Amino acid sequence: MKYVEEFQDPELAARLLDDIRATVTRPWALMEVCGGQTHSIIRHGIDQLLPDEVELIHGPGCPVCVTPLEVIDKALAIASRPDVVFCSFGDMLRVPGTGRDLFQVRGEGGDVRVVYSPLDALRIAEENPDREVVFFGIGFETTAPPNAMTVHQARARGIRNFSLLVSHVRVPPAIEAIMQSPDCRVQAFLAAGHVCSVMGTEEYPALAERFRVPIVVTGFEPLDILEGVRRTVRQLERGEHTVDNAYPRAVRAGGNPAARAMLDDVFEVTDRAWRGIGVIPDSGWRLSARYRDYDAEHRFQVGDIATLEPAECRSGEVLQGLLKPHECEAFGTACTPRTPLGATMVSSEGACAAYYLYRRLELDVTGPRRQESSFCLTPPPPPTCSPGPARRPCATGPAW
Ligand code: SF4
Repeated sequence: MKYVEEFQDPELAARLLDDIRATVTRPWALMEVCGGQTHSIIRHGIDQLLPDEVELIHGPGCPVCVTPLEVIDKALAIASRPDVVFCSFGDMLRVPGTGRDLFQVRGEGGDVRVVYSPLDALRIAEENPDREVVFFGIGFETTAPPNAMTVHQARARGIRNFSLLVSHVRVPPAIEAIMQSPDCRVQAFLAAGHVCSVMGTEEYPALAERFRVPIVVTGFEPLDILEGVRRTVRQLERGEHTVDNAYPRAVRAGGNPAARAMLDDVFEVTDRAWRGIGVIPDSGWRLSARYRDYDAEHRFQVGDIATLEPAECRSGEVLQGLLKPHECEAFGTACTPRTPLGATMVSSEGACAAYYLYRRLELDVTGPRRQESSFCLTPPPPPTCSPGPARRPCATGPAW
């Protein structure tokens, strides 16, 4: 398959690994931002192939995982209404809300439908003018443009029975928040290639300069990730901190101008809560004043639903790179993909699901959790780091 198989070539991978081994002289901690990158890393064992000095920390870039519990509860409240057809991508249906999920709402008679595009939801609205049709719009800069375009279409075509439950988030404020965390030990970022294919790279030089961290735009196949790591390690070893595009086949500096124009028209930047983390200023989008009538949260008056997240789920620490999934006490016991306690175990891009899918047989999940696992190839953190993450209450305030 073009643009896939040639980026999985084992001989080229071995050469990139040799280059990384020849370059690295001391420990470095790199965060891959995107959950798709995390899955590729764990699935292909890339973290186990890298030299011991290079640690990959799994970042918060899974759209399902960072959607806060209170937004799930708002979705459940809206989907339970008899006048509503609630449309969503399939991966949101099993994300647990407080006491139930969207599948259970459907089992109880709610009209919850899986769609493959927000335009499918708009078509349903057009075909059912006597019903209210809501699309669950979550995710990063990658999923926001089609959702924006759908709302734009609804307004242009005068379809009034369509609305969007919005929980869109932005990567650059999350990077800023990660770097400001007192527990942070991230020294460089592999930026998410698909996000940059939409937004470009213009937001990153200021972050690289301010926090003196290399930011390398990276793709998703094994060679993409190894090349991203190679370029990052080379910068770290040289004491550099620039933005580098290692994914030029998809990413241009200016991103996708049409998609960005649509985002600017339909959305405006707002503060957003991230699951298990808290509110990050300017880290999300909401519908702009011109399109506020299409906001499901306002239309169905669910804005006052506020939910505390379950204390037993440590996904907030996982999403900040403070904890590896198998270090959570519930991993593989109380929490599995069939019985998920948190979104990072539900989502196909979640770090907990990746470890369960590809690593659980080699992990010790029967006894008390340790900070360093037997499989982990990484060195202990440098002395300036905190010895281990303290449990944090979820969603009680801006943790970082
Ligand atoms: S293993 Fe389950 S309970 Fe633990 S952090 Fe992951 S999703 Fe939450």
